[in-house]
Amino acid sequence: MRESYCIICGEEREGVEVKEDRVLSALRWFNRTILRIPPRNNSIVVCKSCYPTYKKQRKKYLGRQRTYLVLGFLFVLFGAIIAKTVVSIVVGLGLMVFLYLLSLLSYTPELKDISPKPAKGLSNPPPALKRRRKAK
Ligand SMILES: [Zn+2]
Repeated sequence: MRESYCIICGEEREGVEVKEDRVLSALRWFNRTILRIPPRNNSIVVCKSCYPTYKKQRKKYLGRQRTYLVLGFLFVLFGAIIAKTVVSIVVGLGLMVFLYLLSLLSYTPELKDISPKPAKGLSNPPPALKRRRKAK
């Protein structure tokens, strides 16, 4: 059996598995190719007792990312409309990328679908989703 580690407390625990996304696979690639760390065959999860902490962190991360992207977008817009030079647009894009990378410092990955109860404002899930739930 694969060992699973909680991303919040770092303990070896059972929990909800983290969804593999682009950031995670990029990190794995970086570790393997640049740092030459052999890949470990374990899964990362969020354990039950850390779930509230995880939720808070995830929310903070998403908020920060949005703020940074809006800021970056404004920089690009500023470069394109006010400064009107190619260099300023390139600098704006560079800043946007930099801000995005900065938001990754507080990176909190998404979890695999677990919650059976829909989020607020989502009381009517699309039909496909409903069918899948019933089938379970
Ligand atoms: Zn934990």
